[in-house]
Parts: sequence; structure tokens; C-alpha cells
Amino acid sequence: MQQTDCIFCKIIQKKIPADIVYEDSEVLAFKDAFPIAPVHILIVPKNHFSTVNEWKEKDIPLAGKIVWIAQRIANDLQISAKGYKLLFRVGSDGGQEVPHIHLHLIGGAKLIEDIHPQKEPSRN
Ligand code: AMP
Ligand code: ZN
Repeated sequence: MQQTDCIFCKIIQKKIPADIVYEDSEVLAFKDAFPIAPVHILIVPKNHFSTVNEWKEKDIPLAGKIVWIAQRIANDLQISAKGYKLLFRVGSDGGQEVPHIHLHLIGGAKLIEDIHPQKEPSRN
């Protein structure tokens, strides 16, 4: 089920272009439009779910398949041995900007980590 106002649903329906690297009946993978590393691919379920919070127990095979496809794409792109990051952002505190579940596959370079709480604005 797709949502009309969702940018990733539009990509899935081929209403807007994307550089697709993998597709089957349940999953699409395409290059991130604003890559933060030499390899930056988004793996998405074709059915619309806003966040990981919406997955139910019946969706475990789909969630596993998305991770599996990321692993296969990493293998195809020959970044497996050196490693990569797999990242689901979830909701506001997680920094998720596009409300359609997507797994980031990020690699092709040594990646530094800079995850920390946002500094609250001074109340003085
Ligand atoms: P997140 O912050 O986890 O929601 O990540 C959303 C990602 O979607 C960002 O890395 C964006 O660069 C990427 N993005 C946004 N619009 C598009 C688009 N039309 N095609 C491909 N990637 C996109
Ligand atoms: Zn969607």
C-alpha cells in the first residue's frame, strides 16, 4: 500500500526518478540523493510504513529481508570486507526526516561516529 504524499512511495511507483540498484516485489533499493559516503543506498519496503515502530511481529521476515538485501548489495559493491554501517533512524529523536521506513547502507570509506544528544538552548 502506497501513500500519495510520500516521496519514497512516489519513487516506488516510478512517479519520480531514482537510481535503483535492486528491486523485487516487496523491496526497493536506490542511491541516496545526497550521499554522505562513496556508497550510500536506501533499502525500503514497498508497502508504506512511517517508522520502524509500525512494524508488527508478522513483518519480521520483511525486516530481515531488508537487512539481507543490504548485506548482498554491500557484497556486490565489494565493501563487505572493510565494513559499512546499517542505520534505521526512527522518529523525531532518531533524526528521521523521510517518514517511510528506510535502511541506510553507508560505506566505501572509514566512517566516523558523532552521535550525541542535542544541546538544549540556554534558558537564561
Ligand atoms: P533520514 O534522515 O534517515 O530520514 O534519511 C532520509 C534520506 O533520504 C536522506 O539521506 C536523504 O538524502 C534521502 N533522500 C531524500 N529525498 C530523496 C530522494 N528523492 N531520492 C533519494 N534519496 C532521498
Ligand atoms: Zn511511503
